[in-house]
Amino acid sequence: MSEAVRAGEAAALDAADGLAAKRAEFDLDDAVVYLDGNSLGAPPRGVAGRLADVVGREWGRLGIRSWEESGWWTAPERVGDRLGRLVGAAPGQVVAGDSTSVNVFKAVVAAIRMTRGAGEGGGEGEAPLRDEVLVDAATFPTDGYIASSAARMTGCRIRAVDAADMAREAGPRTAVALVNHVDYRTGRLHDLPGTTAALRAAGARTVWDLCHSAGALPVRLDADGADFAVGCTYKYLNGGPGAPAFLYVRRALQDRFDSPLPGWNSHADPFAMDPAYAPAGGAVRGRVGTPEILSLLALDAALDVWDGVDLAAVRAKSLALTDFFLRCVEAYVPQGGVESVTPRAHGERGSQVSLRYGPGAGEVMAELIRRGVVGDFRRPDVLRFGFTPLYTRFADAERAARVLGEVVAEARR
Ligand SMILES: *Cc1c(COP(=O)(O)O)cnc(C)c1O
Repeated sequence: MSEAVRAGEAAALDAADGLAAKRAEFDLDDAVVYLDGNSLGAPPRGVAGRLADVVGREWGRLGIRSWEESGWWTAPERVGDRLGRLVGAAPGQVVAGDSTSVNVFKAVVAAIRMTRGAGEGGGEGEAPLRDEVLVDAATFPTDGYIASSAARMTGCRIRAVDAADMAREAGPRTAVALVNHVDYRTGRLHDLPGTTAALRAAGARTVWDLCHSAGALPVRLDADGADFAVGCTYKYLNGGPGAPAFLYVRRALQDRFDSPLPGWNSHADPFAMDPAYAPAGGAVRGRVGTPEILSLLALDAALDVWDGVDLAAVRAKSLALTDFFLRCVEAYVPQGGVESVTPRAHGERGSQVSLRYGPGAGEVMAELIRRGVVGDFRRPDVLRFGFTPLYTRFADAERAARVLGEVVAEARR
């Protein structure tokens, strides 16, 4: 009975979904419910053809000429601007390239160096040197590893603080805080404008990691006064495995951005082959070496699916999907079988639902995948389901919850 009701509800929600037609732009297996777009987004259909052209014509026929004629050289900034639109950044502030890990390093070291300029403290009669790096206590591990190394290299100490407490914990010695916008494990959304403003008031900078928010919900980097942001493009932005990441440096800070990785691509005149380094202005300064053209242009093609898409509509559907999934889980999963660790409040939720299962969660997820429902398992006991509003249907949410209910019930026998 309840199954027919939920299935009918899903059908009605899908029929009324203004983004429903977007799904046809992705290459998806309809037999599978794919809820792992927060780990690896599905391929947009236009990518394969574009890559074939890049390899066959741009590389194969034009060869070296493509750096100019096919726009390869400036692709990091051009693709960066396309990403910028999706994270609320005006053109000229985002550059695409390298991994998120590498961009975390650039941003954190550059943020620390900014506090060490003339008159910025540490000198006689001045405020104490800013020598503290705050890192989100629940951060995705790579950010923490990189921030620790950056702290060691710059004579700072690192302190792990809950993202929600950053504003309170920042003090006169804080140089920078590195915060995950959405917690990868729980799906909790953190307060970007409030935290940024509080850190600014404390004289510190903030680096936001947007890996789980870019493409999943509206981000307003410029409007919210963000200093630095990084993010990956293979999750909700569907750029493909290992697609280039991005780095945002607020325009007002670009001239003071002193990159710890000043490769030749960020030189003001790279082909002068000058032994002395002179940084380029603008977003280019965030570049390092030769761009990863094949994956960068695959990402460029993948971004076509966003043309004309309103992030507010994406957010509305994301919340409706996760609300509906949670309701279906309540209806289908035996009492006490799972517990959501994702906040109920819309203002605190990203675009995923994480369910704590307890011992055996890994086996439950393996069984779900065998039955065509693909989520993932995060140790020790979390089942993670990512909802990508451009291609996830309400019917997918219903089926996933139904199969989860069956698997949990069978595991209890
Ligand atoms: C996925 C993810 C990363 C991944 O970093 P890579 O350098 O691409 O491996 C980093 N930070 C967060 C918060 C993530 O979710």
